[in-house]
Amino acid sequence: YATTHDADIVVIGSGPGGYVAAIKAAQLGMKTISVEKDPTLGGTCLNVGCIPSKALLHNSHLYHMAKHDFKNRGIEVGNISYNFETMMKYKVNAVKALTGGIAMLFQKNKVQLVRGVGTIVAPNKVEVKGEKGVETINTKNILIATGSEVTPFPGVTFDEQQIITSTGALSLSSVPKKMLVIGAGVIGLELGSVYQRLGADVTAIEFLESIGGVGIDGEVSKTLQKILAKEGMKFKLGTKVTSVRKEGNVVKVDVEAAKGGNKETLECDVVLISIGRRPYTRDLGLEKVGIALDDRGRVPVNNKFQTTVPGIYAIGDCIHGPMLAHKAEDEGIVCVEGIKGMPVHFNYDAIPSVIYTTPEVGWVGKSEEDLKKEGRPYKVGKFPFLANSRAKTNGEPEGFVKVLADKATDVILGTHIIGPGGGELINEAVLAQEYGAAAEDIARVCHAHPTCAEALREANLAAYFGKPINF
Ligand code: FAD
Ligand code: NAD
Repeated sequence: YATTHDADIVVIGSGPGGYVAAIKAAQLGMKTISVEKDPTLGGTCLNVGCIPSKALLHNSHLYHMAKHDFKNRGIEVGNISYNFETMMKYKVNAVKALTGGIAMLFQKNKVQLVRGVGTIVAPNKVEVKGEKGVETINTKNILIATGSEVTPFPGVTFDEQQIITSTGALSLSSVPKKMLVIGAGVIGLELGSVYQRLGADVTAIEFLESIGGVGIDGEVSKTLQKILAKEGMKFKLGTKVTSVRKEGNVVKVDVEAAKGGNKETLECDVVLISIGRRPYTRDLGLEKVGIALDDRGRVPVNNKFQTTVPGIYAIGDCIHGPMLAHKAEDEGIVCVEGIKGMPVHFNYDAIPSVIYTTPEVGWVGKSEEDLKKEGRPYKVGKFPFLANSRAKTNGEPEGFVKVLADKATDVILGTHIIGPGGGELINEAVLAQEYGAAAEDIARVCHAHPTCAEALREANLAAYFGKPINF
């Protein structure tokens, strides 16, 4: 059993940023070691983030359809109920299959895994404290991909049963009767939707006057709120939470208007606190090698993902930019390509955001609010799914596509979708924006009929020509 290893690159953290970077580094011929402290690979995204939340979102959606919508479609299935334990088991199996898949990909690509907490003890040395003791790795390069953790709420201790983070919400033992969600951002809306569909009475409390978090277009945010409210989710906007406490079996949440005044105490069985995440850099030993964090706890890097110490790089949730799995992955790839002397290019204006509610919300680029703030002249092309033959036929007519293009050049500046398959459809808009397309470019591309993607084409037609065909 070797306690000392040599490597070209050590990647600390095996989340979507770290595991993808490790595979790419090995594929580029580097002797690569991945260091992971948790028992399974895949980080936040695979274990307690993207994947388990989507398993619950998908199956709770199917249940909700079966319960409330099937009969309108001529499908009769008798009494519909769910088995929450089986739903959770399904989620566990989905996670297991994907985390196990990374272990297989590591083997296939010859990435060596060293289990334990990695600490940088010198610019070319990482120590890993694991169950077997301490292992030392001498390495030419170090890539920090240690991700993020839940932002705590001042004065609140999470018991993960009644006062919970997203992690607790992914593993509850039963569906609460009354659930409060603090923060109507991405997590609050997605996990709030899951429990609302399963019959919980869900109220989301949000400090801002709008839902959906940072970057969402105002019109999309309002439409989403209306649709979710129609499904039964309640919202208390412009409201701040001052304290959360347990009294017996009841959780009490004190709130007041964000501007002050109007105090109220709300009660629930379970409160989900989803007010954002913060970078995770504990135990990394950054201070020992002279890397100082910025004012938001992030590892500062330049546009090649280099920290201030030569040979040490950082990517993903622990650096600047949106905390998204695909952003972490893409940074990981270009970062290791850069280490091999290849060009490093990353376009932060073309990162898609998706909220996996029903309907799905997807966007890329600037919102109308962004463009107004910048004073940039723009034109709008909008097309409602109500006028899209496939969406209408499928009985999913809610929502729209909105394209924002430069007034003078027609170059697409942003695309905003709320509607069926919005999370898939946005990728076409991302491709167009990455390639610097004009609205006319998409409008002139042949799209299969009948598909929801035709709504994207028509919105681009409306942006460039002023009028769509079917509306
Ligand atoms: P992480 O995934 O956080 O991985 C970091 C890894 O590093 C962890 O495995 C950790 O154990 C390990 N580590 C940390 N320190 C050390 C150390 N010193 N030694 C060894 N190992 C260490 N994003 C999306 O794009 N789409 C979604 O649908 C989505 N859904 C989400 C749902 C939820 C509930 C949550 C919480 C997040 C979601 N996200 C989603 C965000 C996404 O999970 C993160 O953006 C992504 O995981 C970041 O990847 P990362 O590789 O930077 O870090
Ligand atoms: P978020 O930043 O999306 O939303 C947090 C919300 O909480 C904001 O709207 C904020 O105004 C509000 N808030 C903050 N403090 C508050 C307070 N004291 N009282 C009331 N409201 C308050 O953060 P999140 O939902 O916790 O998600 C964390 C991260 O995980 C995000 O960065 C997101 O990118 C990522 N994530 C992504 C996906 C996805 O891509 N589909 C899904 C889940 C999580």
